[in-house]
Amino acid sequence: MGFIGIDLGGTQLRVAVADDRGRLCTVVREPTQAARGRDHVIDRIVAAVKEALRKEQTSPRRIRALGIGLPGPVDPAAGLVISPANLPGFRNVPLNRILTRATGIPSYLHHDAHLAALGEHRRGAARGASDMIYVTVSTGIGAGLLLRGELYAGAHGIAGEVGHIVVQRDGPLCTCGNRGCLEAIASGTGIARAASELAPGAPGSALYRLDHPHAEDVARGARAGDELANAILENAGTYLGLAMGTLVNLFNPQLIVLGGSVIKTGNLLLGPMRRSMIASSWKASRRGLRIVRPALGDDAGLIGAVEFARLRARHAPQA
Ligand SMILES: [Zn+2]
Repeated sequence: MGFIGIDLGGTQLRVAVADDRGRLCTVVREPTQAARGRDHVIDRIVAAVKEALRKEQTSPRRIRALGIGLPGPVDPAAGLVISPANLPGFRNVPLNRILTRATGIPSYLHHDAHLAALGEHRRGAARGASDMIYVTVSTGIGAGLLLRGELYAGAHGIAGEVGHIVVQRDGPLCTCGNRGCLEAIASGTGIARAASELAPGAPGSALYRLDHPHAEDVARGARAGDELANAILENAGTYLGLAMGTLVNLFNPQLIVLGGSVIKTGNLLLGPMRRSMIASSWKASRRGLRIVRPALGDDAGLIGAVEFARLRARHAPQA
């Protein structure tokens, strides 16, 4: 017997067949083609599942459960995709029911960042941690919480929106419509926006010559000693640390797994982050706290989806 894990993003769809112990066997990768709408994407998911089963030379009857992670907001308890920004046409879609019917495998959806947290907890950098927070900072900011070793999704599956903690009153506009969210300041998008806004006033900066500076341009500039680039990263790191300090005070975690492309910038961002986290949290709340890098890379969400399927199969009535 085995399991299926799916990681559905706005650009890429990955389907894995895993063995009974959750080890990935076959992985199928396809472009999502999200712009072609909901029905097309669902057809592609079902086709990719069939393809993965065919490659693995197994059948749906030998698969106990299917777990799928996708961008929020989703309602895992109701099996509903609410309205992910990068999956057009997905509005209140009962995806558990649709996939169960189309594949013949009991299917369970969850938020992709939560499943990445679960993946790191079961098989990655957070193994054995009882209370952990997973935060990934790249184009956006995603997060997942495991409390007492279990996923914490909140009343309707929306917990863990760390990127939308307001850290700066009247700060920059966020994609969610609010101002001063952490994501609007410390994500790759936020860093790029700050560079676009500030570079025209800094003719001495390497960013001044770029039309649309990216977060990577800011990282490169900062490493070369560019003052403006450094100031932007220091600002992003400081606000990231402020949010981390809040999480530390709130949850008293044992472990924070901190990943994503922006974190790869390194100490120019992480130095200010640490200082600000320490300044904004209680020493007692930080006692024994470890901050580590993820161990599963891009596979965290896929592995988490398999682990979620295993978890749900354990709680489902045996066939
Ligand atoms: Zn926001």
